[in-house]
Amino acid sequence: MMSVKCGNCDSYQTVVGYRKLPEKNVYTYECENEICDPNVTRTIVEVPKEFDNSTKRAEELPYYTAEAEPDTPGE
Ligand SMILES: [Zn+2]
Repeated sequence: MMSVKCGNCDSYQTVVGYRKLPEKNVYTYECENEICDPNVTRTIVEVPKEFDNSTKRAEELPYYTAEAEPDTPGE
């Protein structure tokens, strides 16, 4: 997993979402404090699959099932 630091409150953001796309993985990070409004400071991190070595770990986390979609053959 990557560490994502907020430029507003200077705290590390927490992964709150994970999506698998055909060529990349998309992680959503948010501040978990009273300082930042997540709607303003939310960070979307896109990682090309060939560089992403955290997918396996991400799939074991509870939030994965929340956003998981059935694999559809890409055509
Ligand atoms: Zn923040």
